Amino acid sequence: MNGIKLLSLDFDGTLIGPWNGTQPEIASGLIDSLEHLRRRGVLIALNTGRTVPLVDQALRIFPFVPDYALTAEREVYRWEGRHWSDVGGWNGRCREAHDDLFREAEPLLEEIRRFVERDTEARPYYEDGLLVGVVAKTGEEMDRIQRFIAGRQACCPDFSSQRNSIYLRFCHRAYDKGSVLNELQRVLTIGPEETFAAGDNFNDLPMLKRSCARWLACPANSVAEVKGVVSAGDGYVAEGAHGYGVVEALAHFLPEAF
Ligand SMILES: [Mg+2]
Repeated sequence: MNGIKLLSLDFDGTLIGPWNGTQPEIASGLIDSLEHLRRRGVLIALNTGRTVPLVDQALRIFPFVPDYALTAEREVYRWEGRHWSDVGGWNGRCREAHDDLFREAEPLLEEIRRFVERDTEARPYYEDGLLVGVVAKTGEEMDRIQRFIAGRQACCPDFSSQRNSIYLRFCHRAYDKGSVLNELQRVLTIGPEETFAAGDNFNDLPMLKRSCARWLACPANSVAEVKGVVSAGDGYVAEGAHGYGVVEALAHFLPEAF
């Protein structure tokens, strides 16, 4: 094969399609392709905005358990056959950095909360009583919220956020899908030149660059910004949506494997 040893795959919108009642659309051939590559020694990581409980929920409807889950755009877990375990000290350091950040950013978070509650129809999102994100009604409303935050976050240089469509999660600037993928690569001693990454939304942008993955792809349903960086990085913009596009991209880059 061309040297691909690791797949970094977004889940919602990339591996699965729109929900039809209680089931998402899963592309025919996708699971077979992933199993086939795993048999050939390729490691597979979900790189998702979902938290661990939401990954477990996802895997009840998606019949493939990845080797690694990179969760909430910042933590790294290995599948041990029955449960997820931390990989090295990354998750501990990540949590400490976020505890410090959320303490420092308290006045900024309060400003964001007031703006969201007074001037938008969006919903503030809390975890353990802490404002950790916002869910907007529309993409345009999220654009407006992001502009508000951009105009005020200079007070807190480490403050950043990850956007997936109408969802925004606050985070430390050092942590995103790209930095967590680089950490997994460091642990596995697998380089970007041996890594394939695919995603469809804004929060995927940090991993869709050549310093994270030599082999870039996005499905047809991706936002324009993602299609732009994948094209610019010599990647593959698929004609098929979600999992169909992933299968298409894998066959494009690994013709000898299929
Ligand atoms: Mg997605």
